[in-house]
Amino acid sequence: MAGRTDQAEFEAAMRSLAVEPIDRSKAPRHPGPAPDGARTAAPRRREPPEDSASAHSDPTTARERDEALHARDLAIGQRDEALRERDLSRAELEREQEARARLEQELARATDQQAELRRARDTEQRGRRELEQRLAAIPSPRSLRQLLTERGAADEAEMTEIVLALLTHSPVDLLDELAGSEPLAAALGSRLSLVCERPECQPTDAITVVHVPPERCDVCGGSSIRAAWELLLRRARLAGVTRIMIVGGSPQYRAQLKSLHQGSDLRLELVSGRSKPSRRRARTAAERVVIWGATILDHATSAAFEAHGERLIHVQHRGISGMLHEVAARLDADG
Ligand SMILES: [Zn+2]
Repeated sequence: MAGRTDQAEFEAAMRSLAVEPIDRSKAPRHPGPAPDGARTAAPRRREPPEDSASAHSDPTTARERDEALHARDLAIGQRDEALRERDLSRAELEREQEARARLEQELARATDQQAELRRARDTEQRGRRELEQRLAAIPSPRSLRQLLTERGAADEAEMTEIVLALLTHSPVDLLDELAGSEPLAAALGSRLSLVCERPECQPTDAITVVHVPPERCDVCGGSSIRAAWELLLRRARLAGVTRIMIVGGSPQYRAQLKSLHQGSDLRLELVSGRSKPSRRRARTAAERVVIWGATILDHATSAAFEAHGERLIHVQHRGISGMLHEVAARLDADG
């Protein structure tokens, strides 16, 4: 279509300039109406065509024709450019309208959510107020002392006697009926020790000691190693020792010692008996250096620590608990 229109426009321009087509059988013999662009650029369009040869040979006419064609091309180009810009503007406008619609939808959603949150908050506040009112209405429980005093107990000795008698006579009822409290829970945690019969597990600071089977012992949990470690901890505290280096022991032994001393106030430096320690490593600030001689230990390694003199503890015992016991005994003798 565009090609045909261009051809028609071209032929019209040619006619307006009195230019005859070469193939006369197809071209019209008389000039038709010229397009606007060509009319201004072709002032000579109304002159009758005298002779096609003279029109071809007239340089002025040819130049005007070229100018007219050029002006037409320019006009077409400008029109196409304007159309392109209009299309671009339309597309941009559509995009902006879509974006605006999306934003409006989001705003509506956010507004809905906000309203829902407000409703939930109001409901929660109402529920809390109701709970507070109900809590305030509950009478606070009377203490055991109040109950016993009201019943006629004169002092704490009588109160204790009454409670013990009740507990002995019907422990199940009393244990179920007496309410526990936070202070009681705290006292059970700090003033009561459940320990086994091992001497190293006996507490020095608990007010109430109750003996239980070793597997339920607060100190060792049935482990002789844990019991020995707890003993060493206590002896170290008494002797003012905060850091002990242990040279020797298998990797498994060292791993066990590492897990034992984690989180405790006694620091252990564990050195493999096979590694040749540097002078700096051998010059430890630990208050005691244990040479665990019955286990893996090279002579060269132990020799690096001989300079520690008084601080050295030689242990021949092979097991961990035996070693810990020996070190604890040495700390006790030193202290
Ligand atoms: Zn124990």
